[in-house]
Amino acid sequence: MEYRRIPFITLSKIVPRVWITLSDCNFKCRGCFSPARVINGEIMSTDRLVKLVKEASLDYYHKLPQEIIITGGEPTLNRDYLLDLVSRLNFSYVVIETNGYLLDDEYVDELIKVGLKEIMLDLKVYDEGLHQWYTGYSNRPIHKNLKAFHKKIKLIIKTVYIPGIVDEVEIENIAKFISNIDPEIEYRINDFKSSQGISKTPTDQEMENAYLKAKNYLKNVIISRSCRREGIAPRKFSWITVFPDGTFQRRSLENY
Ligand code: SF4
Repeated sequence: MEYRRIPFITLSKIVPRVWITLSDCNFKCRGCFSPARVINGEIMSTDRLVKLVKEASLDYYHKLPQEIIITGGEPTLNRDYLLDLVSRLNFSYVVIETNGYLLDDEYVDELIKVGLKEIMLDLKVYDEGLHQWYTGYSNRPIHKNLKAFHKKIKLIIKTVYIPGIVDEVEIENIAKFISNIDPEIEYRINDFKSSQGISKTPTDQEMENAYLKAKNYLKNVIISRSCRREGIAPRKFSWITVFPDGTFQRRSLENY
């Protein structure tokens, strides 16, 4: 049986939607704000994790979630675990949020076969040297994977604007790269939340400039300071964090 560490799952207060956070990541992004990169949480089988998702949803929503987003950390690290997890969640619309490094064509085929419906892929940096510096890895395998699977499943690509590191030049290059694959792919530019002493949150003007650059190449570009799935969430107690022992905590945007 396969196991991964789970620090918590998160419930939306808007619709029956659950995020599963899996601990650990292959990348070492210098601006990572995810607590899940640190190896923490409880070791759980897929069986126990799915039970936690179902019980928390039935308790809170009185029904099973309509959408489940598997995030991290990096969900693709343990292939057998992820395939088993997605197959057990097929009562819902299942999405993975990934850096795409391990997601080769065959892996995507297997995920689709067990019920995966959508991939949200981070293209963090276009320049290979800068990507290596920022994440510890080359971005070429991600580009190769993306070209291979982009037609097979609903796909959203995301970049975080990090002033001084991933700025409008980088975002323009990423947009150009995506447009060569398919200009219809949805592209999302999110703002960096200052962390670990690097960079700062971009200004509205910087975000707008990046948007305009990307729009020259792509039909579906969105800039946002909030969660794509939640729209503009109210600042107070927008989510509920459920820990492996079933206890919960209300969470607001400030907790980020
Ligand atoms: S890929 Fe995501 S979780 Fe992993 S280190 Fe980078 S920002 Fe953090």
